[in-house]
Amino acid sequence: MAGPLNAKVIMAKCSSTNKAFGIRIEQRGRDWVRTWAFPIDERKAKREGFDANTVSGSMDADDEYPGCPHCGSDGFVQCGCEKIGCAGGVRDHGDHADYTCPWCGEDIELEDVSSFDVKGGGF
Ligand SMILES: [Zn+2]
Ligand SMILES: [Zn+2]
Repeated sequence: MAGPLNAKVIMAKCSSTNKAFGIRIEQRGRDWVRTWAFPIDERKAKREGFDANTVSGSMDADDEYPGCPHCGSDGFVQCGCEKIGCAGGVRDHGDHADYTCPWCGEDIELEDVSSFDVKGGGF
């Protein structure tokens, strides 16, 4: 018998367009899995309390995960401010990449590009 499904919506912003979106995440074992993403009005999200939801640990994308509703990126970056943005705005410089947080405007350097934007494969 399956237990109650532990799922919630966390807030993210598209780093290409600066528009907000919600990510539905579901707990599977110890991990959180991203299952859905949808555009959302920032004020509505605040009213619903989505911006207060946080999660730590890995968040793999489910096969069904549609990617950022604004630019299609299925990766994400979590800034030091703990807010999440899609990886669409990541600037790839070959051996490293950087990214400007759409929430706080901080520039962060990403050492390993592959760690946040793994695409397909794996089986
Ligand atoms: Zn995006
Ligand atoms: Zn930030």
